[in-house]
Amino acid sequence: MAVERVAVVGGGLAGFAAALALKASGAHVELFERSRILGGRATSFEIDGVEVDNGQHVFLACCTEFINFAQAVGMAGQLHLQARFDATILSRSGKAGRLRTSALPAPLHLIGSFASYSHLGLAGKLRIARALAAALLRKADPSETFEAWLARNGQGSQERAAFWDPFFIPALNAPFDRVGASDAMFVLKTAFLRDAGAARFGFSRVPLAHLTQAAAKQLDAVHISAGILSITPNNAGVTLRKAEGDTDFDAVVLAVAPRQAERILGDPQGYGVTNLDKYDPYPIIDVHLWHDGGSIRRDFVAALESPLQWIFEKEPGYLCCSFSAADEYLRQPTAELESLAWREVQTFLPSLKDATLVRSAVTRNPEATWLPRVGAKRTQQRTNHPAIAIAGSWTETGWPDTMESAVRSGNLAAQVVLDHPAYRVGSPDGYIRARTVCPSAGAG
Ligand SMILES: Cc1cc2nc3c(=O)[nH]c(=O)nc-3n(C[C@H](O)[C@H](O)[C@H](O)COP(=O)(O)OP(=O)(O)OC[C@H]3O[C@@H](n4cnc5c(N)ncnc54)[C@H](O)[C@@H]3O)c2cc1C
Repeated sequence: MAVERVAVVGGGLAGFAAALALKASGAHVELFERSRILGGRATSFEIDGVEVDNGQHVFLACCTEFINFAQAVGMAGQLHLQARFDATILSRSGKAGRLRTSALPAPLHLIGSFASYSHLGLAGKLRIARALAAALLRKADPSETFEAWLARNGQGSQERAAFWDPFFIPALNAPFDRVGASDAMFVLKTAFLRDAGAARFGFSRVPLAHLTQAAAKQLDAVHISAGILSITPNNAGVTLRKAEGDTDFDAVVLAVAPRQAERILGDPQGYGVTNLDKYDPYPIIDVHLWHDGGSIRRDFVAALESPLQWIFEKEPGYLCCSFSAADEYLRQPTAELESLAWREVQTFLPSLKDATLVRSAVTRNPEATWLPRVGAKRTQQRTNHPAIAIAGSWTETGWPDTMESAVRSGNLAAQVVLDHPAYRVGSPDGYIRARTVCPSAGAG
């Protein structure tokens, strides 16, 4: 029996990446999404008539598979990517520090701006330089937490507040004692130490759901409000159980969060799917602020020693403030979060001191990212059943839970289906092959 009809469960970036790769190889692909909106954790929806993202998302230039995905769905022109890494970091007193790359090759490309970085004294800079050298020279111990690594490498409160916190809390979205040092080292090396262009910031100029909406147009069918209750192998492939009845496919990519994957599979161990119970969710909160103070004349700034790490200007008069690893703020009432964020914005951006807050909204994502407990292995895309593959930003891709990891996981899961001994349709060129091309010029 040939594998010709493939189902994808989950309409986030992982599901759509898998679906596009399978479609490009000639399969008939149908996607099932529980929600009525597409995009999963990278989505957007209307609040009072304005389409807002569920939270600010950034990618870096090293997120090549995410950028390729945007290209494949015709949305690369809607992505903005910095020509070179350039970040303004503000202190509570309004003092601005700036980190940006020079023309020197990695890892020397940040030395110039780091030397003049105003939020750290010479001793702190030397301590950070020593830690960066240790990161380059020594392999991380998989059982060590990032917190322990920082302490072992002499990083005190000043180094943390001025350098590690603003970049690594958002990148890892978890308290440092819950993150493996190896994950942090991966981010450090991939973004900052190996390639001078890698850390360039990028973001979508259009609401995030547009990406997956564009991808949906390439599939044979996209079923929304179509939650899958279970997946069961049958003689010819798999049966997907929905509330309205069963439907059969030759193979399936399951691209949902770990707990849902566990429920849908019923007996994950039986399929060789391990460690689903070793993941914990971590929240992100975004506070959206509309004001009458005009443009802050920067795309984004980092805020030191603040509960919100980054302030993004979505358009003049509209700021999105992101609180990463935001556990302690999750249950705070909306009005309190809005006034806290506005107070912080007015503190860090004195140009808005006399501005009036016109409107505000809060988006809370209690399960924004999934992280395995320190030392636990991430779940693989391949199962022991040739017709069932797993995808999701939290699976083993080498990347932390990000859009890049989601797309990578989808591509890997599609490859698992393409490796099915009975896979006979088309040839795996198209998107799968295209994804390996690195868009060095970047998008936008
Ligand atoms: C506020 C916020 C900010 C973030 N910021 C960044 C950032 O700056 N940069 C970055 O790279 N990443 C960021 N992330 C993480 C990024 O969004 C995720 O890593 C990525 O989108 C996950 O994609 P996914 O497809 O693996 O999972 P998801 O997007 O979670 O997709 C899973 C889908 O499966 C669906 N589903 C669940 N159960 C069923 C079922 N039974 N049947 C059918 N469908 C089902 C869900 O509804 C969902 O749509 C952020 C996330 C959030 C929430």
